[in-house]
This record gives sequence, C-alpha cells and structure tokens, in this order.
Amino acid sequence: MKILIADDSKFMRLMIRRICDNASEDIETEEAGTGIEAVKKNAVFAPDLIFMDITMPQMNGIEAMQRIKKVSPDCKLVICSALANAPQIKEAIEQGADEIIAKPFQEEKILEVIKLTKGR
Ligand SMILES: [Mg+2]
Repeated sequence: MKILIADDSKFMRLMIRRICDNASEDIETEEAGTGIEAVKKNAVFAPDLIFMDITMPQMNGIEAMQRIKKVSPDCKLVICSALANAPQIKEAIEQGADEIIAKPFQEEKILEVIKLTKGR
C-alpha cells in the first residue's frame, strides 16, 4: 500500500511517516511539503491513501484535494488539520474528503484509517 503525506511541517510529516512505517511492512510512503507538490507526487506515486494538511504554501490542501480527486477518484483522501471546526473543514467534506482527522491526533486514528484503507 502506498501513502502520501502532505504537510508543510516537516515534523508533522515525520510523525505521520513513523506511524505508517510501523503500521505494516508493505507500506511505502512519500512526502509533499506544499499543495502543488502533493498534486505532482500523486501523479507519479499513485498513492492509495493521502494524509492532507489544509494550511500549506503555494496551494492549500483543499485545492490540492480537488485536483487529486479529479484524476485519482479511488485514492482515499484524509484531511489532517488543526482547523477542526473551521469553515475549511465543512468545505473539505463538501469537496469529497473521505475522512477528517483533527490535530493534535491520536496515533490510533492514523492506524485506523490505514487499516480501513487496506481492507477495502
Ligand atoms: Mg500546515
């Protein structure tokens, strides 16, 4: 299974990556630090699952999600953001986010999404 982690915080990417790497041996991960990078990496890496931050430079996570959904409708897109109750979350849901995880998150939340994605 392939997972793309898009977040402008290197620390956050590292945290999520560690959880993914420890979750299973057959998980491959890639990282993106901006929305544009996420769109580009999606095209070449073709992930099954993306953890997407909202607030990122160049292009935010919601716009990146919209673009990715168009070309990769089967990719599971999970918004992972500190803007838990902000209008952006409502927009993310309307635009087709498969799941919302609020930061700071519990490791179990990430693991649960990985498990569900693997099992579908
Ligand atoms: Mg951010």
